[in-house]
Order: sequence, then C-alpha cells, then structure tokens
Amino acid sequence: MKALTRYCDSGEFGGYHYIDLPAPECGPDDVIIRLKAAAICGADMKHWYADLDGSNTSDQLNSIRGHEFAGIIVKVGENVTEWKVGQRVVSDNSGKACGTCPACECGDFMLCEHKTGLGLDNNYKVFGGSGGFTKYAKIPGGILRLHPHAIWEIPEGVKYEEASVLDPIANAYKAVAQQSSLIPGQDVVVFGTGPLGLFSVQIARIMGAVNIVMVGLQEDVEARFPIAREVGATHCVNASTEDVVKRCLEICGRDNLGLVIECSGANIALKQSLEMLRPNGEVVRVGMGFKPLEFSINNITEWNKSIIGHQAYDSTSWRECIRLLQFGAIKVQPMITHRLGLSEWKKGFAAMADKSAVKCVFHYDEDDKDVCEYGEELYDDDYDFS
Ligand SMILES: [Zn+2]
Ligand SMILES: [Zn+2]
Repeated sequence: MKALTRYCDSGEFGGYHYIDLPAPECGPDDVIIRLKAAAICGADMKHWYADLDGSNTSDQLNSIRGHEFAGIIVKVGENVTEWKVGQRVVSDNSGKACGTCPACECGDFMLCEHKTGLGLDNNYKVFGGSGGFTKYAKIPGGILRLHPHAIWEIPEGVKYEEASVLDPIANAYKAVAQQSSLIPGQDVVVFGTGPLGLFSVQIARIMGAVNIVMVGLQEDVEARFPIAREVGATHCVNASTEDVVKRCLEICGRDNLGLVIECSGANIALKQSLEMLRPNGEVVRVGMGFKPLEFSINNITEWNKSIIGHQAYDSTSWRECIRLLQFGAIKVQPMITHRLGLSEWKKGFAAMADKSAVKCVFHYDEDDKDVCEYGEELYDDDYDFS
C-alpha cells in the first residue's frame, strides 16, 4: 500500500515521503481498519513547512502520517470481542500510553508524557507505523485495552469525512465547553480562522454566546470570513486593517467579554486578548507560537485574569461532539473545502498552505485500491465519503 510518511532521525521535524509499505499485520488484540477519510491537520502542516527547505535528508522512517481519520473495520484479532468487522469507526489517534502516570490515571491519555499517537510521533518504532494517510491502519490492542475509547463507532447518518474532523471539533469543545467558564449570554472573541478557530465559534454558538467575534487577517477576508459567518460568527474583525482591541470592545462592551479563545498562536493576539478581557476574564490559548513573549503579563495579576493552556481532548469531549455531529448541531460541510485522492497529497498541502482550504480530506485512490488484503468486501461506497 502507498503511505505518506515522515523521515527523520530524531527530534521534532522531518521530511515527507510517499512510499510503498506492507499492509499492517493484525496481532491477536489488534483492530485493522480500511481508511475512508483522513484530514490534514495544522500539526501536519507544521512538519510539512519544516521540510520545505530540503535540509532534511534522513533515511530513517519515522512514522505514517495523518492522525484525523475514519474507516471501516476489516479485521479484528482473535482476542478482540468489543469490535467487529464492518463497524464504521473513527480514531482519537491515541496509539500508546503508559497507563500509570497522573494524566493516564485521570483518563487524560492525550496528556501522557509517554504517549505515541497514530499518525504522529515516532510511531514506526513503536508499532510498525500506523496513521491515516494510507490504505489500512492498525489500532494497537494495547491502547484498546487501556483506553477502549481510542476508537468510537460512527453513528448512522454521519459521513466518514465528517467523522474524520472530530479531532479539531473535540479540541474546540474542550477549550470552550470544558476549560472555560462561559455561560449563555456572554460574548466570545476567537482569534485564528483555521479549523480550531472555526469550530470554537461553533461551540460558542451552541453554548449561547451572544456576540461571537472572529479575528483574522487580510488573507482571510475572501475565503474564511464568509465561512466564519456561516458557522456562527456575528462579526469578523480584520487585524491587518483594524484596531482589534478597540473594535472588539465596541462590539461586545467590556462588561460582556469574559472569554477569548486564542487559536492563532501569535504573541500579539495573546497581548490583545489580555487587554480586551474584563476583570476575571479568561483566555484559552489553543494556538502555539514559538517566540518568547515580549510584553508584560502583569495584567493577569492586576485584574485576576487567566491564561488557560489547552491541549487535545478527553473521552467526554468525544462523546458529546459525536452527539452534536449526529444531531446536526455542528456544521461540518462548510469546513470541508477540499476532497482529494491521497495520490494528490501535494496539492492538498499546498491548498492548506495558501489558506484556500480550511479542511482537506483525503481518500485512498491508488492502483491497489481494489485489492482487499484482509478479504473484506468492497462496498459500493468505497470511493465516496458516504
Ligand atoms: Zn489534528
Ligand atoms: Zn501515562
């Protein structure tokens, strides 16, 4: 099977290679899924950008990429009783966790310092590689024993492509619904027009925020601001041309703005968030930037404001997000702007890079797509996302 992989010796970054790999072996506790949809995430972009200068020449296979994926179970190991062939499932991308650290003890497997992600991390060494940008993915038995919600059944009526973007939905849900103190009637400002920002707008809408202000840049005006409005933003502010703090306060009034969701990762956005928030306000920092802060954060002490760090989600996030998807509360279709065969992966990454895409979802389209390695039936829906 073809697989989009990353090569690097060690450390964080490495180059992308589209190569042939054998289909995964199914151990007695493993589950094999045939991939139907896999989406490009911001984390994939980070690694893709890092490779653009061509400086990485490593020949070490690090991982199969793609951690936002959904598919159909085509084989289960002989010890597996909870899952069966033919079930439609989506992975929360956990592949391995230690089970004994304080995070694992709380069921927060995504925060385990020893975790290995499917489609992330150096997963080739750990379980022979598994991720979404290929034909088949292995869900290792070890993680299913420790964390049975490593995969979830996709409810009827939810498409594979919609399930494949549950990862950013669940991130936004955790940030807005589980980590902040938002109550209905308040206002929310969201920085960053990527999937995390746009899904945060949606969760704020569902939670009863009155004004939901999306802050973006000039390059967002044409493609992403209209989507933001479609999914629930009441106002869009162009940080390239407008005074962001002044404009947000005009819209919300200082007394109503208790929450900012910062998905851009830009230092200036964090500074502006702290300036615009009312006393006791909260900023949940979802985005990541790599430069040290060049401004004082005394404001948080003076006015009892909070900067809340955000990472990933837990099973509660997934359970509730799947219900919101199932009952149509989350709008996914405006967010999936590109659907491509995996062979066109470069096109997909380019569309994400130039921001013409919000979410690009791949399906497997290579020459061996008609070969059923596990004797599975080839259903008619194999090449669409139904
Ligand atoms: Zn992701
Ligand atoms: Zn752990």
